Amino acid sequence: GDAEVAGSERILADDQEHVFRGWARQVGASSLAVVGAEGCWFWDHDGNRYLDFASQQVNMNLGHQHPRLVAAIREQAGRLCMVAPQFAVDVRGELARMIAERAPGDLDKVFFTNGGAEAVEHAVRMARLHTGRHKVLSCYRSYHGATAGALTLTGDPRRWPNEPGIPGVVHFFGPYPYRSPFHATDERQECERALAHLVEVVQLEGPGTVAAVLVETVVGTNGVLLPPDGYLAGLREICDQHGILLVCDEVMAGFGRVGEWFAVDAWGVTPDLIAFAKGVNSGYVPLGGVVVSRRVAGTFADRAYPGGLTYSGHPLACAAGVASIEVFEEDGVLDHVRRMGSEVVAPSLRAMADRHPSVGDVRGRGLMWALELVRDRGTREPLVPFNASGPAAEPMARVAAACRAEGVWPFVHMNRLHVVPPLVIREAELRRGLAAVDVALDVADSYYSG
Ligand code: PLP
Repeated sequence: GDAEVAGSERILADDQEHVFRGWARQVGASSLAVVGAEGCWFWDHDGNRYLDFASQQVNMNLGHQHPRLVAAIREQAGRLCMVAPQFAVDVRGELARMIAERAPGDLDKVFFTNGGAEAVEHAVRMARLHTGRHKVLSCYRSYHGATAGALTLTGDPRRWPNEPGIPGVVHFFGPYPYRSPFHATDERQECERALAHLVEVVQLEGPGTVAAVLVETVVGTNGVLLPPDGYLAGLREICDQHGILLVCDEVMAGFGRVGEWFAVDAWGVTPDLIAFAKGVNSGYVPLGGVVVSRRVAGTFADRAYPGGLTYSGHPLACAAGVASIEVFEEDGVLDHVRRMGSEVVAPSLRAMADRHPSVGDVRGRGLMWALELVRDRGTREPLVPFNASGPAAEPMARVAAACRAEGVWPFVHMNRLHVVPPLVIREAELRRGLAAVDVALDVADSYYSG
C-alpha cells in the first residue's frame, strides 16, 4: 500500500542524504532498500526477492538469518555483551581453540580483529617484528583491505587513489594461466616461471630486507585465481630459504569457501600466519583475525606485542563464530560445498562455456567460481577493458542487470562474473541461479566479435 511505498522512499532518502558510502560517488548512485533476508535470499521494501549469488560481499557463508547464529548472538547478548580483551571470557577462548584445532601445522594461537583489513595489518606487523625486517612482497591482482597498509599491499586499482600508502611494499606477479604474465603455455610452466620470478624479485630486493611474502591463497575479487599445484609449496620453500614468513590471506577463501576449513589445506601447505574474517561467522557481528604459528607467537613470549583493539574477540562476534563452526560440523557443510562444486557448478559452468562464445575461461573450486567474459576467444580481449567505468563498463553492467531481472544477485568485477553463493545453498537454488547466469550470458554473447 501507500505506507509501504512511502517507507521505501524514506529508507532511500535517509541513505542518500546521510550515509557516506565506500567505493562510490555520493550523489546519484542507485541503491536498494533491503528489509529482510533468509537463507540464500534477500528482499527489498517493494517485495523484489533476490537469490544472493554473491553472499553479500562473499562473506555470508551460512546464509542470512541462520537460526543457530541468531540464537547464539541472542543468548550471548542476554549473558554478557562486551568485556575488554585483557579479560578471559569463555566464548573467545572457545572460538580460538576451535580455530586452532582446525588450522594446519603449528598454527595454534589467534589474534582477533574486527575484519579482514585489520587482520592483514596485524599479520604484517607480526612478521616485521618477528623477522626484524621491513619489506613485504604482495601480488598484483590482489585485494587485502582498505586500511592504509592493507590497501598499499593490494594489487588492484583500488590502491591508486590512495597512494603513496605505507613504505616497504613491493608487488610481484602471481600465476594466472589464462593471461600468463610469463607467456607460459600450461599450468606447470606457469607455476615454474612464477616461482622463478619471485626468486628474482627476492634477490633484487635483498633477501635480508624481506619480512613476508603475502598472498591470497586463492585470489578472490581479482579473479578466483587458483594456485597451480606446487606453487604454494614453492613459496614455502623460497620463504624458508631466506627466513621470510609466508602469510596467507584467507579472508575470502577460508572457512569453507573452497570446501576446506583453510584454503591452504587443499594444497597441503602450512604458512606462518593466516589472516581470516568474513566466513568465520558470516559477518553477523564483525570478526576477523590472524592465526599465529607457535614460532611467531614465541617472539612475543616475554616481549609485549605492540598492538591491540578495544573489540578484539568481541563476545557477540565470538558466540556467532562458535555457533558457525558447530553448524559447519553438524550439517556437513564442507562436504556439501565440495559436492555442489564438483557435481553442480563445475559441469554447469563448463556446459555454459560450450554454448556461449563469450565465456573465455571457467575456473574455481568448492563454491568459489569465476567466468571470465571475452569479446574474442582467440585474442582473449576482455568483454570490458581493465578497470573500465561508465559507458565502457556497460556490457558487464547489462550482464549483471540481466541476472537481477531473473531474480539473482550476481557478483561482478571488471570482465568477470563470480559464482559465490552461501555455502548452505540447496541444489535446486543453485541450479536456479546458474540458469539465470545462463540467460545473462546471452547478453555477453551479443558483444562477441571473435
Ligand atoms: N582480504 C581479502 C582477500 C578480501 O577479499 C577482503 C575483503 O573483501 C579483505 C582482505 C578485507 O576485508 P575487510 O573488508 O573485512 O576489511
